[in-house]
Amino acid sequence: MAKETLHGVNTIPVAGQALLLTTTSGGTAIHLVRPVENDTRGRPAVHDFHLEPEFTERVPTASRYDTAALSEPRWSEVTLCGRTWSVMVGGEAGPVTKYCDPAFAPSCSRCMAIIDKLFPAPEVDARLPLVAQLVAQLLVEHGLAQIYHVPGDQVSALRKEIRRRVRDLSGHPIKTNYVGGVIHAECEPVYEIHAMTYQRAAVEALPSFLTGSDESALPSLPDWNVYWGNWAVS
Ligand SMILES: [Zn+2]
Repeated sequence: MAKETLHGVNTIPVAGQALLLTTTSGGTAIHLVRPVENDTRGRPAVHDFHLEPEFTERVPTASRYDTAALSEPRWSEVTLCGRTWSVMVGGEAGPVTKYCDPAFAPSCSRCMAIIDKLFPAPEVDARLPLVAQLVAQLLVEHGLAQIYHVPGDQVSALRKEIRRRVRDLSGHPIKTNYVGGVIHAECEPVYEIHAMTYQRAAVEALPSFLTGSDESALPSLPDWNVYWGNWAVS
Protein backbone atom coordinates (compact mmCIF):
# COMPACT_ATOMS: atom_id res chain seq x y z
CA MET A 1 0.00 0.00 0.00
CA ALA A 2 1.34 3.43 -0.90
CA LYS A 3 2.34 5.46 2.10
CA GLU A 4 0.04 8.40 2.72
CA THR A 5 1.72 11.72 1.97
CA LEU A 6 2.44 13.46 5.23
CA HIS A 7 1.25 17.00 5.80
CA GLY A 8 3.59 19.81 6.78
CA VAL A 9 2.94 22.95 8.76
CA ASN A 10 -0.45 24.66 8.40
CA THR A 11 0.28 28.06 6.88
CA ILE A 12 -1.31 30.68 4.67
CA PRO A 13 0.64 32.76 2.15
CA VAL A 14 0.63 36.47 2.95
CA ALA A 15 2.62 38.95 0.89
CA GLY A 16 5.24 36.38 -0.06
CA GLN A 17 5.57 34.81 3.40
CA ALA A 18 4.05 31.62 4.81
CA LEU A 19 2.41 32.49 8.15
CA LEU A 20 1.57 29.77 10.65
CA LEU A 21 -2.01 29.34 11.91
CA THR A 22 -1.93 28.95 15.68
CA THR A 23 -3.96 29.16 18.82
CA THR A 24 -3.20 30.33 22.34
CA SER A 25 -3.61 28.32 25.49
CA GLY A 26 -7.26 28.37 26.45
CA GLY A 27 -8.16 30.68 23.56
CA THR A 28 -10.42 30.00 20.62
CA ALA A 29 -9.16 32.65 18.17
CA ILE A 30 -6.81 31.65 15.36
CA HIS A 31 -3.66 33.81 15.26
CA LEU A 32 -0.83 34.15 12.77
CA VAL A 33 2.86 33.66 13.47
CA ARG A 34 5.79 34.79 11.32
CA PRO A 35 8.83 32.66 10.64
CA VAL A 36 11.97 33.99 12.33
CA GLU A 37 14.73 35.33 10.10
CA ASN A 38 17.24 32.76 11.24
CA ASP A 39 15.15 29.63 10.93
CA THR A 40 16.99 27.64 13.55
CA ARG A 41 16.43 30.14 16.34
CA GLY A 42 12.67 30.04 16.63
CA ARG A 43 10.29 27.62 18.26
CA PRO A 44 8.60 24.62 16.63
CA ALA A 45 5.01 24.61 15.38
CA VAL A 46 4.16 21.80 17.77
CA HIS A 47 5.85 20.97 21.09
CA ASP A 48 7.70 17.65 21.50
CA PHE A 49 5.16 16.26 23.93
CA HIS A 50 2.40 16.65 21.34
CA LEU A 51 4.34 14.21 19.20
CA GLU A 52 4.76 11.50 21.85
CA PRO A 53 2.92 8.28 20.94
CA GLU A 54 0.96 8.43 24.16
CA PHE A 55 -0.44 11.76 23.06
CA THR A 56 -0.94 11.06 19.37
CA GLU A 57 -2.83 7.85 20.12
CA ARG A 58 -5.63 10.03 21.37
CA VAL A 59 -5.53 12.16 18.21
CA PRO A 60 -5.33 9.69 15.32
CA THR A 61 -5.09 12.46 12.70
CA ALA A 62 -1.81 13.67 14.27
CA SER A 63 -0.01 10.77 12.56
CA ARG A 64 -0.83 12.32 9.19
CA TYR A 65 1.59 15.15 9.88
CA ASP A 66 5.28 15.25 9.13
CA THR A 67 6.76 15.41 12.63
CA ALA A 68 10.13 16.60 11.35
CA ALA A 69 8.53 19.58 9.62
CA LEU A 70 6.41 20.38 12.66
CA SER A 71 9.48 20.24 14.92
CA GLU A 72 11.60 22.71 12.96
CA PRO A 73 12.45 25.65 15.24
CA ARG A 74 11.53 28.32 12.75
CA TRP A 75 8.64 30.31 14.24
CA SER A 76 8.46 33.52 16.24
CA GLU A 77 7.69 33.19 19.94
CA VAL A 78 4.75 35.56 19.63
CA THR A 79 1.81 35.98 17.26
CA LEU A 80 1.51 38.99 14.94
CA CYS A 81 -0.76 40.57 17.57
CA GLY A 82 1.89 40.01 20.26
CA ARG A 83 0.46 37.04 22.16
CA THR A 84 2.34 33.96 23.32
CA TRP A 85 0.89 31.06 21.38
CA SER A 86 0.67 27.39 22.32
CA VAL A 87 0.38 25.27 19.20
CA MET A 88 -0.24 25.16 15.47
CA VAL A 89 -3.84 24.30 14.58
CA GLY A 90 -4.40 21.38 12.19
CA GLY A 91 -5.20 21.91 8.56
CA GLU A 92 -6.45 19.62 5.81
CA ALA A 93 -5.25 16.46 7.52
CA GLY A 94 -7.39 17.11 10.61
CA PRO A 95 -6.63 18.05 14.22
CA VAL A 96 -3.01 17.91 15.27
CA THR A 97 -3.80 18.12 18.98
CA LYS A 98 -6.92 17.42 20.95
CA TYR A 99 -7.14 21.07 21.92
CA CYS A 100 -8.20 22.62 18.66
CA ASP A 101 -10.15 21.97 15.48
CA PRO A 102 -8.55 22.49 12.09
CA ALA A 103 -8.57 26.03 10.73
CA PHE A 104 -7.68 27.56 7.39
CA ALA A 105 -7.68 31.28 8.12
CA PRO A 106 -7.01 33.62 11.04
CA SER A 107 -9.95 34.82 13.13
CA CYS A 108 -8.10 37.24 15.45
CA SER A 109 -9.11 40.70 14.27
CA ARG A 110 -5.81 42.24 15.37
CA CYS A 111 -3.77 39.70 13.34
CA MET A 112 -6.04 40.31 10.35
CA ALA A 113 -5.66 44.08 10.60
CA ILE A 114 -1.89 43.63 10.62
CA ILE A 115 -1.81 41.44 7.50
CA ASP A 116 -4.08 43.93 5.71
CA LYS A 117 -1.27 46.46 6.03
CA LEU A 118 1.24 44.03 4.49
CA PHE A 119 -0.56 44.21 1.16
CA PRO A 120 0.33 47.26 -0.92
CA ALA A 121 -2.70 49.48 -1.67
CA PRO A 122 -3.87 48.81 -5.23
CA GLU A 123 -3.20 51.46 -7.82
CA VAL A 124 -6.25 53.65 -8.35
CA ASP A 125 -7.73 53.19 -11.84
CA ALA A 126 -7.84 56.33 -13.99
CA ARG A 127 -11.62 56.11 -14.36
CA LEU A 128 -12.33 55.96 -10.63
CA PRO A 129 -12.67 59.74 -10.07
CA LEU A 130 -15.05 59.97 -13.03
CA VAL A 131 -17.28 57.14 -11.82
CA ALA A 132 -17.19 58.49 -8.26
CA GLN A 133 -18.31 61.94 -9.45
CA LEU A 134 -21.16 60.49 -11.51
CA VAL A 135 -22.37 58.34 -8.62
CA ALA A 136 -22.08 61.21 -6.15
CA GLN A 137 -24.31 63.35 -8.38
CA LEU A 138 -26.89 60.56 -8.65
CA LEU A 139 -26.92 60.19 -4.88
CA VAL A 140 -27.30 63.91 -4.23
CA GLU A 141 -30.10 64.12 -6.79
CA HIS A 142 -31.99 60.85 -6.36
CA GLY A 143 -30.66 59.23 -3.19
CA LEU A 144 -29.77 55.90 -4.80
CA ALA A 145 -27.13 54.44 -7.12
CA GLN A 146 -25.96 51.00 -8.16
CA ILE A 147 -22.56 50.48 -9.69
CA TYR A 148 -21.83 47.38 -11.77
CA HIS A 149 -18.65 45.63 -12.93
CA VAL A 150 -16.23 47.44 -10.60
CA PRO A 151 -12.93 45.50 -10.47
CA GLY A 152 -12.47 43.94 -7.04
CA ASP A 153 -9.31 45.89 -6.21
CA GLN A 154 -11.07 49.21 -6.87
CA VAL A 155 -14.20 48.62 -4.77
CA SER A 156 -12.86 49.89 -1.49
CA ALA A 157 -11.27 53.04 -2.95
CA LEU A 158 -14.42 53.79 -4.98
CA ARG A 159 -16.73 53.51 -1.96
CA LYS A 160 -14.46 55.83 -0.01
CA GLU A 161 -14.27 58.37 -2.82
CA ILE A 162 -18.07 58.38 -3.35
CA ARG A 163 -18.58 58.96 0.37
CA ARG A 164 -16.14 61.85 0.34
CA ARG A 165 -17.72 63.52 -2.70
CA VAL A 166 -21.29 63.23 -1.42
CA ARG A 167 -20.20 64.77 1.86
CA ASP A 168 -18.51 67.63 -0.01
CA LEU A 169 -21.51 68.21 -2.26
CA SER A 170 -24.32 67.90 0.28
CA GLY A 171 -22.94 67.34 3.75
CA HIS A 172 -24.92 64.07 3.89
CA PRO A 173 -23.56 60.70 4.96
CA ILE A 174 -24.16 57.70 2.71
CA LYS A 175 -24.39 53.94 3.14
CA THR A 176 -22.74 51.57 0.71
CA ASN A 177 -22.99 47.79 0.40
CA TYR A 178 -21.11 45.44 -1.86
CA VAL A 179 -23.31 42.45 -2.66
CA GLY A 180 -23.02 40.02 -5.56
CA GLY A 181 -20.44 42.15 -7.33
CA VAL A 182 -22.64 45.28 -7.25
CA ILE A 183 -22.06 48.36 -5.09
CA HIS A 184 -25.36 49.69 -3.72
CA ALA A 185 -25.16 53.24 -2.44
CA GLU A 186 -27.88 55.14 -0.64
CA CYS A 187 -28.08 58.68 0.65
CA GLU A 188 -30.96 58.32 3.06
CA PRO A 189 -31.86 62.01 3.57
CA VAL A 190 -32.21 62.46 -0.20
CA TYR A 191 -33.92 59.12 -0.77
CA GLU A 192 -36.54 59.95 1.88
CA ILE A 193 -37.58 63.04 -0.06
CA HIS A 194 -38.37 60.94 -3.14
CA ALA A 195 -39.39 57.65 -1.52
CA MET A 196 -43.15 58.17 -1.96
CA THR A 197 -42.76 59.02 -5.65
CA TYR A 198 -40.58 55.97 -6.29
CA GLN A 199 -42.99 53.66 -4.48
CA ARG A 200 -46.07 55.06 -6.26
CA ALA A 201 -44.42 54.68 -9.66
CA ALA A 202 -43.46 51.09 -8.92
CA VAL A 203 -46.94 50.13 -7.62
CA GLU A 204 -48.74 51.77 -10.55
CA ALA A 205 -46.58 49.98 -13.07
CA LEU A 206 -46.81 46.55 -11.45
CA PRO A 207 -49.98 45.16 -13.18
CA SER A 208 -48.82 46.00 -16.70
CA PHE A 209 -45.31 44.88 -15.86
CA LEU A 210 -46.61 41.47 -14.73
CA THR A 211 -48.80 40.93 -17.80
CA GLY A 212 -46.39 42.60 -20.18
CA SER A 213 -49.42 44.34 -21.72
CA ASP A 214 -48.24 47.91 -21.76
CA GLU A 215 -44.55 48.68 -21.74
CA SER A 216 -45.16 52.40 -21.81
CA ALA A 217 -46.62 52.08 -18.32
CA LEU A 218 -43.26 51.09 -16.85
CA PRO A 219 -42.37 53.36 -13.96
CA SER A 220 -40.50 56.49 -14.83
CA LEU A 221 -37.86 55.97 -12.20
CA PRO A 222 -34.47 57.65 -12.43
CA ASP A 223 -31.74 55.60 -14.05
CA TRP A 224 -29.44 55.02 -11.11
CA ASN A 225 -27.39 52.24 -12.66
CA VAL A 226 -23.77 53.00 -13.44
CA TYR A 227 -21.52 50.62 -15.40
CA TRP A 228 -17.81 50.91 -14.68
CA GLY A 229 -16.91 49.66 -18.18
CA ASN A 230 -18.83 52.52 -19.89
CA TRP A 231 -16.40 55.08 -18.59
CA ALA A 232 -13.19 54.18 -20.36
CA VAL A 233 -10.62 56.94 -20.24
CA SER A 234 -8.07 57.32 -22.97
ZN1 LIG B 1 -3.83 37.59 16.86
